[in-house]
Amino acid sequence: MKIEQDSVVRFHYRLRDESGEEVEQSHDGEPNIYMHGHRGITPGLEAALTGKEVGDVFSVTLSPEEGFGVREEGREQRVPIKHLMGKVKPKIGMVVSIQTDMGPRQAVVLKVGKFNVDVDTNHPLAGKTVTFDIEIIEVREAVAEEIEHGHPHGDVGCHQ
Ligand code: ZN
Repeated sequence: MKIEQDSVVRFHYRLRDESGEEVEQSHDGEPNIYMHGHRGITPGLEAALTGKEVGDVFSVTLSPEEGFGVREEGREQRVPIKHLMGKVKPKIGMVVSIQTDMGPRQAVVLKVGKFNVDVDTNHPLAGKTVTFDIEIIEVREAVAEEIEHGHPHGDVGCHQ
């Protein structure tokens, strides 16, 4: 079947930045899973996946607007180190997860103090043109419960 609204899709990806350097990839682990049409993945990538089928291999290059967003000024903030998720020891340039009013989000460490860190809460790939190399592993219809929840359930069911 072709990917359409509410399809549950598993795919492997490689993500490259403008210089062609690999930023992330899924091939060493489980493929990524999402439900189509629910903004579970980057909008430009979701658009490119529409109509694709199992076994399709393709690349798509996304502008910041289609990808991880444009960089916004004034997104620096000071956070207590103990509020960083995952009990990490922060270093300048490290990508950390912080808890915000809008849920957890990634931020880049700008400065490390004794008790606080200054972070930039723009997505680490904001403002960058990126390329995804995609391989589609599975396409299936969502079950009623998944559509109700607005997200796919993997092998272990719902994580909520
Ligand atoms: Zn669920």
